[in-house]
Amino acid sequence: MLEGLKTQIHLSTFTTWKIGGFAQYLVEPNLYESIEAVRWADNNKLSVYFLGNGSNILIDDTGLPGLVIVTRNSLMGLRREADYIIAESGVFLPHLSKFAAREGFSGFEFLIGIPGTVGGAIAMNAGLTVFRPREMTAIVQDFDVLNLDGSIETLTMDDVNAEYRHTDLLDGKRLILQARFRLDEAGDPTEIKRNTFEHLAERKRKQPLDKPTAGSTFKSPPGSKGAGWYIEQSGLKGFQVGGARVSPVHANWIENLGSATAADVRNLIDHIQATVDKRMSISLEPEVIFLS
Ligand SMILES: Cc1cc2nc3c(=O)[nH]c(=O)nc-3n(C[C@H](O)[C@H](O)[C@H](O)COP(=O)(O)OP(=O)(O)OC[C@H]3O[C@@H](n4cnc5c(N)ncnc54)[C@H](O)[C@@H]3O)c2cc1C
Repeated sequence: MLEGLKTQIHLSTFTTWKIGGFAQYLVEPNLYESIEAVRWADNNKLSVYFLGNGSNILIDDTGLPGLVIVTRNSLMGLRREADYIIAESGVFLPHLSKFAAREGFSGFEFLIGIPGTVGGAIAMNAGLTVFRPREMTAIVQDFDVLNLDGSIETLTMDDVNAEYRHTDLLDGKRLILQARFRLDEAGDPTEIKRNTFEHLAERKRKQPLDKPTAGSTFKSPPGSKGAGWYIEQSGLKGFQVGGARVSPVHANWIENLGSATAADVRNLIDHIQATVDKRMSISLEPEVIFLS
């Protein structure tokens, strides 16, 4: 049996939406245990799912049949080596942002308000389109991935065809173990910290951070308007399905009012897409990842 293996774990506490069915198996491995975990799943012919902080995923109410590998509590190593920062994939992005500021690395400020892990952010090519636009491609030098057969390789963001909120890693066939971030621009730590916290204050004013959400539900469509603008113009701000509601603060965010199921959120997403398409002739593509 695999060290630290848990069974029938409810996944709602592993996502920021606080939604999700049971994991058949769940493990929170360190670097070496990760290799054993994927081999164990392979030997037992089980599907494997990767979770960082669960801040961009909707897990089906029926749960995940197979092995869920969670990184946020176990792959947390973080250090500086010359002009690079090495972070394991479970490192929380705000923690990386503060560490970079202390070390005088400018350009990591945008991570302060993104409640994900290094692995999730690389897989998503997370970033900002507002405030000061920037994404992971700007700071990632390269990263180590574990393939499902237990082999390890080093890849760059180009190798995984990173584009706006997408990389090939979202096919779920490679676990990011750790990443190397480069120092592009040195700065004064005090000034970097000030910029970082100004950015955070701006986000707090404009986003519903007191509710369980997954941030932006849809990607920005081409053009200058964000998805939230189209949703609001379609009259959907505050629209509710079961326990899921279009945020009255920011229409591209869906709030769990306490009892939302994944089905409520899926139905609300379908309704938003159909309504915006009909009223504004705009096709909205989900940014959130559906796991089932
Ligand atoms: C309040 C709030 C604000 C947000 N703001 C932003 C924002 O400004 N910009 C932005 O881009 N996003 C934002 N998000 C969404 C989310 O935080 C990011 O997409 C984040 O990078 C996801 O990281 P995670 O660790 O939570 O990934 P998860 O949600 O756990 O996973 C996302 C995807 O990555 C995969 N994955 C996770 N870890 C690994 C790994 N180690 N190896 C391989 N695949 C992995 C998962 O299987 C899944 O497909 C926000 C979310 C919230 C709740």
